[in-house]
Amino acid sequence: MAIKMEQKTWKYAVSAIQELNPYLPGKPIEEVERELGLEQGTTLKLASNENPLGASPKAIAAVHDSLNDYYLDSSNTSRTMRALELYPDGSGHSLKKKLAKKLSSDNNKISPDQITLGNGSNDVLDLIARSFLTIRRDAVFSEYAFAVYPIITKAVSAGMDIAEANPEDHRMPYGHDLNAMLHQIRGNTYIVFIANPNNPTGTWLNKNELDNFMQQVPSHVIVVVDEAYCEYVDRGVYPNTVDWLSKYPNLIVTRTFSKIYGLAGLRIGYSVSSPEIADLLNRVRQPFNVNSLALLAAEAALDDDEHVARSKRSNLEGLEQWMSACKKRQIDYIPSVANFLTIKVGEHAALIYEALLREGVIVRPIANYNLPQHLRITIGTEEQNNRCIAALDKVMNL
Ligand SMILES: *Cc1c(COP(=O)(O)O)cnc(C)c1O
Repeated sequence: MAIKMEQKTWKYAVSAIQELNPYLPGKPIEEVERELGLEQGTTLKLASNENPLGASPKAIAAVHDSLNDYYLDSSNTSRTMRALELYPDGSGHSLKKKLAKKLSSDNNKISPDQITLGNGSNDVLDLIARSFLTIRRDAVFSEYAFAVYPIITKAVSAGMDIAEANPEDHRMPYGHDLNAMLHQIRGNTYIVFIANPNNPTGTWLNKNELDNFMQQVPSHVIVVVDEAYCEYVDRGVYPNTVDWLSKYPNLIVTRTFSKIYGLAGLRIGYSVSSPEIADLLNRVRQPFNVNSLALLAAEAALDDDEHVARSKRSNLEGLEQWMSACKKRQIDYIPSVANFLTIKVGEHAALIYEALLREGVIVRPIANYNLPQHLRITIGTEEQNNRCIAALDKVMNL
């Protein structure tokens, strides 16, 4: 009976929504421990590309102080000191000012009105989709691109044109093929989503490749370059896309505080674009989409260069550790400059994933990305990596 009623409602939903596959998050630690009867607090999660060094200490202190000061002196009327009961600053004025300064360079000044804040960068991606897509408009992205792109595209009943990725024997296997993406662009294409580096592959595009692509994209097409992992990239050939905003008015760069800054739980990210695009996104944005604690923490995290440097160093060492462990075991992996490595464990990937759970290690199966033989593993601390590698050895009988 209950099911029948549900089906009745189901058919009234927008058809694109009925077809939508929900996002599959990494399995939470508590759930794994509960389901498998593992001892509480012993599970290692390397499934959602969170920072193994945690949040920026400066961000933690900012949140802590704001709550403490309130309880010590409840007559305090400032917004930072009354972060829980007052609405946040809907304009995010102070953070945007700080970000603009940080993103400016000698040859390119960024102003706060070019920045749009979001409840995670996923929120900003969603604002972009809602501003530029609708039924009979299409988005172009690559095979194996970030799972949020199809969700936000379908949510507005827009079409998707998916470009084939690089073949397995390419120097950047499974990576975006920009020529194939250009071929997918038509008169009804309004957005191209590019993740650089891409999740779940870790592959990246260099300055020349991307600049060449931008030059060939028709001006009515918005190009979104999603740089959630850019702070981890240590290559001179990695593009500084924010500096390109003045020459490409159709470019939007998105970034996040969820990854290297370690603030995934607070949900805050942003885009940098022309002021005109920011104005459009701001019309669609919910008035208080970013909470007060996130605003405070993000501002403090921006000042924490030391934590960013330490996180980057730890990640580069961890990537090396993982790549040499894989080489030693003849496990194939996709080249990565992000904070995760996607390894090819073969047709038993799902079983290996389950067996790892029983060892108390959560990684990410990516069959939903059409990569059923791969597992995506977040780079942890040296000790965490060793534990995951040992668990892999055990379950793969190496
Ligand atoms: C993790 C990730 C994000 C960040 O999402 P938030 O909403 O900012 O937490 C964005 N894009 C890609 C490709 C990612 O992997």
